[in-house]
Amino acid sequence: MPPMYLFNTNSKLEKKQKKVIEVTSIVERVLCSINFRAVKINLPCKLLAVGSGLGSYGRNNICYIDDESSFYWIGVYISDMPCENNTWQENKIMDACKDCNLCLKNCPGGAIANDRFPIHADKCITLYNENEGGFPKWMNSSCHNSLIGCMRCQSVCPVNRKHVYNIEDIAEFDSRETEMILAGTQLDKLPETTYRKLDTINFVEDYNLLARNLKILISK
Ligand code: SF4
Ligand code: SF4
Repeated sequence: MPPMYLFNTNSKLEKKQKKVIEVTSIVERVLCSINFRAVKINLPCKLLAVGSGLGSYGRNNICYIDDESSFYWIGVYISDMPCENNTWQENKIMDACKDCNLCLKNCPGGAIANDRFPIHADKCITLYNENEGGFPKWMNSSCHNSLIGCMRCQSVCPVNRKHVYNIEDIAEFDSRETEMILAGTQLDKLPETTYRKLDTINFVEDYNLLARNLKILISK
């Protein structure tokens, strides 16, 4: 799984998402210590990260922080802290993309365009495996590479080279648990230990997608 999915949540449920709660409490605590407040708000986070100078876009439309890695979750907060210098900048594409098309060549859906900046969202695997429903005919099993989302344009990117093997095994499901998941066992009928593992990998909210996404991955 791409790491940012550990924070994945519907905006209406984010007040219950453990990692979001953790980040929000740190932001609040830091600002509170200097007498300011912060409130989490849902605004286009990549656009704001790039506009504020925190990151740049890659050709794959993903935001890279400090031109160093795309493996981030971005949260947007508003604050009463005054903004004394206007650092807003035009959308910036990484210098590394100038002579590189590795993500374009490695994209299984052909979503990354050669002649325009926005990717073709309808050809991006994430549009389909993050949502319920079937997969389109053109998307054969070799396109799938992650329980949710897609890693192909990020794993091949030279900017991510330093971090791409920094993989953590955070939960392991035995064969019985895996079979129960594949059989579509209801969440409340799963053993408590299995539920906790699903919570650890942040798949409780998206449990309805898991059996389908896992089936297509192991059918390869
Ligand atoms: S793979 Fe190359 S073109 Fe694509 S985002 Fe990374 S540096 Fe840019
Ligand atoms: S996430 Fe996957 S399908 Fe989408 S642009 Fe990147 S490589 Fe292509």
